[in-house]
Amino acid sequence: QAGQIADRMGFKVYAAGGLVRDVLLGHENLDIDLVVEGDGILLALELGRAYNAKVRQHHQFGTAEVVFSDDFKIDVATARVEFYAYPAALPQVESSTLHQDLYRRDFTINAMAVALNEDSFGNLVDFFDGREDLQNHIVRVLHNLSFIEDPTRILRAIRFEQRYGFKIEPQTLKFLNESVRRGVLAKVSNDRLWDELKHILAETEAEGMLRRMEELGVWAYIFPRVNYWEVEPVLKDLPRSIRQISDWGMMVPSSGWLVYFIAVLHWSDAEIARENCAKYNLSKRQTEKVLAALKGWSSTVALIWKAPRHVKVSQLAKALLQMPRESYPMLLAILEEDELKERFRELLNIIKDSKPRINGKYIKQLGYRPGPVYREALDALWRERLDGNLRTEE
Ligand code: ATP
Repeated sequence: QAGQIADRMGFKVYAAGGLVRDVLLGHENLDIDLVVEGDGILLALELGRAYNAKVRQHHQFGTAEVVFSDDFKIDVATARVEFYAYPAALPQVESSTLHQDLYRRDFTINAMAVALNEDSFGNLVDFFDGREDLQNHIVRVLHNLSFIEDPTRILRAIRFEQRYGFKIEPQTLKFLNESVRRGVLAKVSNDRLWDELKHILAETEAEGMLRRMEELGVWAYIFPRVNYWEVEPVLKDLPRSIRQISDWGMMVPSSGWLVYFIAVLHWSDAEIARENCAKYNLSKRQTEKVLAALKGWSSTVALIWKAPRHVKVSQLAKALLQMPRESYPMLLAILEEDELKERFRELLNIIKDSKPRINGKYIKQLGYRPGPVYREALDALWRERLDGNLRTEE
């Protein structure tokens, strides 16, 4: 459809970047990134009209987003048309604008495009041999100043390398090491670092990326004063723990990245953790979650250790409910032994099923005013029920 609209408008349009990479790899990717030789914003407006979707325009960049829903949008960029003095140069101008757009990108595997216009539909545009690198499982920059120009690409290189099980190409690795040694990461704004870091931490297999950050001397810039080796054992087990908790159908954390963020900081002093939260401008609530996890994990783990003897279920449940649920995979990782992991699972089951059926709202419906007395009474009831002293009727 974008191709037909572009045909009508006399523009050329291409799908570019991650989508092309993932289609060639046979992976799913729903991020559509269009490059238009012509006017990207006009094309976006037409697309928006055709699909009845909202269009956000950014005139200073010549870009726009066509927003279909919360998790589906199309980014449209304009490959700037350059004006040459000689009309004879025009055909070259057309391809050189796409070339320039792709040349600004981070890695060869991300710098391919596919034509969408009807007459050329499906043609792969691959100026930098991205397809070959993809086949050879290689992450390669397009030029030697790439990491200096944009140091966040250091994190991106690590992300793609680990996500696909690729290798950073030796020359690229040399550029990367040099730029890290020159301290380029200290010059990037924390906002930009966070944009990339958040992506890393949201991947289930972020563990390998964090390890690579340590290996390449990047970690210290990203998590200042946090010792990687202290948290490594927990990080290593985190992918498995995340999968387990989600397989149990329980408490899949809402913000995925926070699971790793908490695990990275759990061994640190509160002051260092606070500093790292501030560095990335975490909200007050998110910071509180990190600090609650930091404060509570060892006593919670100790309680689970001691259970079932000497510890009441209600006591365990209470401890667990005081911990942010984004810390549950980390707790599971710390509880190394299978028997303890199983105990944790049972406990999660109990708190999942123990949602109070009578709550403040219900009391209100009955015409009473909820107050502290009710809260205390409900708490006591809840404890009793968990400890098996009370039966509840469905
Ligand atoms: P993911 O699958 O994680 O979304 P992606 O490649 O789609 O990966 P995005 O961050 O959405 O990643 O970027 C889209 C495209 O924009 C990339 O494929 C790349 O071509 C380009 N790009 C993104 N960030 C940079 C950067 N820092 N420098 C150069 N090009 C970039």
